[in-house]
Amino acid sequence: MSKVLIIGAGGVGQVVTHKCAQRRDIFSEITLASRTQSKCDAIAAQIATPIATAQVDADNVAELAALIRREQPKLVINVALPYQDLTIMDACLETGVDYLDTANYEPRDTAKFEYHWQWAYQERFKRAGIMALLGSGFDPGVTNVYTALAAKSHLDEVQEIDIIDANAGSHGQPFATNFNPEINIREVTAPCRHWENGQWIESGALATKHSFDFPDGIGPMNIYRMYHEEMESIVKHIPTIKKAQFWMTFSDNYLKHLEVLQNVGMTRIDEVEYNGQKIVPLQFLKAVLPDPGSLGPLTKGKTCIGVIARGLKGGKRKQVYIYNICDHEACFREVKSQAISYTTGVPAVVGAIMMLTGKWHKPGVWNMEQFDPELFLEVLGPMGLPTVVVDGGEWPEL
Ligand code: NDP
Repeated sequence: MSKVLIIGAGGVGQVVTHKCAQRRDIFSEITLASRTQSKCDAIAAQIATPIATAQVDADNVAELAALIRREQPKLVINVALPYQDLTIMDACLETGVDYLDTANYEPRDTAKFEYHWQWAYQERFKRAGIMALLGSGFDPGVTNVYTALAAKSHLDEVQEIDIIDANAGSHGQPFATNFNPEINIREVTAPCRHWENGQWIESGALATKHSFDFPDGIGPMNIYRMYHEEMESIVKHIPTIKKAQFWMTFSDNYLKHLEVLQNVGMTRIDEVEYNGQKIVPLQFLKAVLPDPGSLGPLTKGKTCIGVIARGLKGGKRKQVYIYNICDHEACFREVKSQAISYTTGVPAVVGAIMMLTGKWHKPGVWNMEQFDPELFLEVLGPMGLPTVVVDGGEWPEL
């Protein structure tokens, strides 16, 4: 029985709070803190059991440390924005409390999607006897666990992976992003990188496209290659992997809007002068786009996120496809959020359960593929995200 402090009351924070409240056997006390306390209170009001709320500026280490000292949690779940990862890790070090997040630290002025800032905390976390679990969302997160499962139980040697993220849902809006628009648009407009023969190969953003036939009645959709942060840790920790690519579906309509926004400069993340004030165009764009939280009641359809791992088994080439299907409307009925927030928030809670029950616990800073995947997946299914494994099959080389 442990107390948990959740930081961030956005789409993912809402799911994490609901899901922790469903497991009072583990999360006996829950505090939800964020920049705007009224958002925490609105989430707390949706839940039948008591949730404490607090206001905190997670860019401020002293404020965070004071909050942690006051609340005395066993674990801090960071579902604020990637900009706050290091300040929250610093506050956890100062107070000797475990840490978990769902996205790598990002500097505000350049889109990097790199782990080195957080990996640099390894020795300090070890010395303090505390643990940080990095990237416990779906991708990164469950996709790392699926890759580890392919390596542990399905292939003798994983040589190639294709991580494929399909959102086959529709919200009926002309243009909206399914999670924080600033982070989402930074990700999809960044140059593409994939791993091949020991190095990163750069290509144009979303320049490589295929059609992929998705399971569970979803059918063929266009997938576009892009960089995604989990590839960095996966190829480091599973060094047999010679090729790693990440693919995401985008509708023609989404791409049409994105191209115009990019061409007119609205996706820039550097400051521009406007009426004597400095503004960042992408932050302004976020302010005029639909709030991802408002899409929950509107979104219908499914997501399908998974990994095709290819390699050797008994000396022969073999493929395995491991994926999850999640239904937007079912998520909304359960926790008042669409599947993008749900597929991120549920693995965050499962990661927290792994840490608090000691199934995955060791001092230091770790990525998801560094622990036993089966222990995680045993809990993930009953928490709402079942895993499908198709062992052997002939999916096209991408
Ligand atoms: P939202 O924008 O919906 O929510 C972010 C929350 O963080 C808001 O409540 C915001 O407060 C709060 N916040 C921002 N800055 C601060 C600050 N300085 N101090 C305190 N609170 C702050 O984002 P999402 O819920 O969609 O995403 C949350 C995280 O999940 C992000 O890091 C995102 O990258 C990650 N993610 C990971 C995925 C995965 O699969 N691994 C997939 C999707 C998201 P306010 O309301 O006041 O603005």
